[in-house]
Amino acid sequence: MAETAVEVEREQMEYDVVVVGAGPSGLAGAIRLKQLAVAADTELAVCVIEKGSEVGAHILSGAVFEPRALDELIPDWKDRGAPLNTPATEDRFLYLTKNRALRLPTPPQMHNTGNYIISLGNLCRWLAQQAEELGVEIYPGFAAAEVLYDETGRVRGVATGDMGIGRDGEPTDHYTRGVELVGRETLFAEGCRGSLTKTLIQRFNLRDGVDPQTYAIGVKELWEVDPAHHRPGLVVHTIGWPLDGNTYGGSFLYHLENHQVAVGFVIGLDYRNPFLNPFEEFQRFKTHPAIRPFFESGRRISYGARALNEGGFQSIPLVDFPGGALIGDTAGFLNVPKIKGSHTAMKSGMVAAETVFARLNGDNTARVRDALQRSWIWDELYGVRNIRPSFRLGLWGGLVYSALDTYLFRGKAPWTFHHHPDHTQLIPASQAPRIEYPRPDGKISFDRLSSVFISNTNHEEDQPPHLKLRDPTKAIAINYRLYDSPEQRYCPAGVYEIVDDAASGGKRLQINAQNCVHCKTCDIKDPEQNIDWVVPEGGGGPNYPNM
Ligand SMILES: Cc1cc2nc3c(=O)[nH]c(=O)nc-3n(C[C@H](O)[C@H](O)[C@H](O)COP(=O)(O)OP(=O)(O)OC[C@H]3O[C@@H](n4cnc5c(N)ncnc54)[C@H](O)[C@@H]3O)c2cc1C
Ligand code: SF4
Repeated sequence: MAETAVEVEREQMEYDVVVVGAGPSGLAGAIRLKQLAVAADTELAVCVIEKGSEVGAHILSGAVFEPRALDELIPDWKDRGAPLNTPATEDRFLYLTKNRALRLPTPPQMHNTGNYIISLGNLCRWLAQQAEELGVEIYPGFAAAEVLYDETGRVRGVATGDMGIGRDGEPTDHYTRGVELVGRETLFAEGCRGSLTKTLIQRFNLRDGVDPQTYAIGVKELWEVDPAHHRPGLVVHTIGWPLDGNTYGGSFLYHLENHQVAVGFVIGLDYRNPFLNPFEEFQRFKTHPAIRPFFESGRRISYGARALNEGGFQSIPLVDFPGGALIGDTAGFLNVPKIKGSHTAMKSGMVAAETVFARLNGDNTARVRDALQRSWIWDELYGVRNIRPSFRLGLWGGLVYSALDTYLFRGKAPWTFHHHPDHTQLIPASQAPRIEYPRPDGKISFDRLSSVFISNTNHEEDQPPHLKLRDPTKAIAINYRLYDSPEQRYCPAGVYEIVDDAASGGKRLQINAQNCVHCKTCDIKDPEQNIDWVVPEGGGGPNYPNM
């Protein structure tokens, strides 16, 4: 018989700094900490925990990478074999109508000279090696499930979830108690919409006085294409079809090495029509006459999805709290007009590392937010703060405003537009036009289940659901009746299904949690904020090879 949770004490591991999440921000922070310790000739124990089965397994990005932060962190990255193999050589910015593609001037923020087309997952794997060489301990397969506080309310670390708890909440024969990772400082680098970050924001009122965070969902595939259609270094972005003029979004196509093309579609989660299906919009986009030829004789290798931050400057929270700070996308440093957040995520990790190192060495006044304000992140995000919210004027209104803001005001307009939370934006289904999507052809366009299959997503089936409904009755009483259950459509993994309920003779929401690719969209977009995404058992989720 397995022991119960209360009978087993949690093992404790002590560090100077605990980092939650092995993305670019967490790894850059860990590396910088160790570099500072080496320079000061002191010992510093740093660990990073990661919920993916290995570093990179849960990383999904575009990605065109701006190497500014990497240049600062590891100036000899080329000699050390960093996987930045494809310099961006050409930018194309297209406006699509149903049948045509019109080339527009590329906005200045989207010029990519000096940048590289990469797999961010592979860059993270390389960063993890650099970190380990410096002595950082990295534990993939462990999800931080709980924030630990001391008696004064200060954060003192995190605990990993217990393993081997059954669906019924009772320990199984595989039961293992979670571990407490205790740090003098803890950096949360969970990426967009971090699940522990959410609780910290609430507990320490970190959003007081700033705008709500806003988001988009990005759905991505990796293809191996016919060499005749492959142009290494080519960066293509499109706006317009298949979206209507009031929905923010567009596509990216990045030609990387080995005849691979990363193709994806990003849609602002402030969209209003509950019938919109981001996955289907993406599938439809690939059938455009200007896009289809890229993929016609190619092969789809991988699929995945992830939310990204769009709030920018006015949504940056108060990142500091007693015992640590938020870094990277979990705070929200993505530059929307550039569609880049990796360089700012890394820089925020480095800035936080420097601040925390100062604190550990006696400077109790050091604050991460103050240091961020002195860094280039602040100037970069300030200058583009009005561009994303201006698209509330529609596509053309947003483009015109953005041109004025960029060329005339040069980012220094004496006003700042504000954001509204994404979950309040849906209109009732009764007022929204239905959207009919074409059936997938299995060559260029696909269905969701065969797509999830190639994301290599896997969860232990006998575990408590990691998608929790705060009030289960709302699934039908509100979501279904008022919005025709938008979660059926916005979830890129088909996790949510409305099915007949034999018991009541009505409908019920079925949650296929094992398919979840950890994109966090449901946690963001549910109109009642009734869905709470918490970490499943460590190691569960997608296993992206090089997304
Ligand atoms: C579709 C798409 C396209 C993009 N394109 C680009 C681009 O072209 N260029 C660019 O620069 N940026 C791009 N971005 C943004 C970029 O990917 C992010 O800004 C960047 O990944 C943020 O880094 P991060 O370290 O903050 O978080 P992430 O990269 O999200 O990493 C967070 C890590 O923490 C882990 N984690 C989370 N919670 C826990 C927990 N509780 N316990 C343990 N581990 C946890 C996750 O598994 C993950 O590995 C894109 C994003 C998307 C979604
Ligand atoms: S269940 Fe939520 S987090 Fe998981 S894939 Fe669907 S929308 Fe994303």
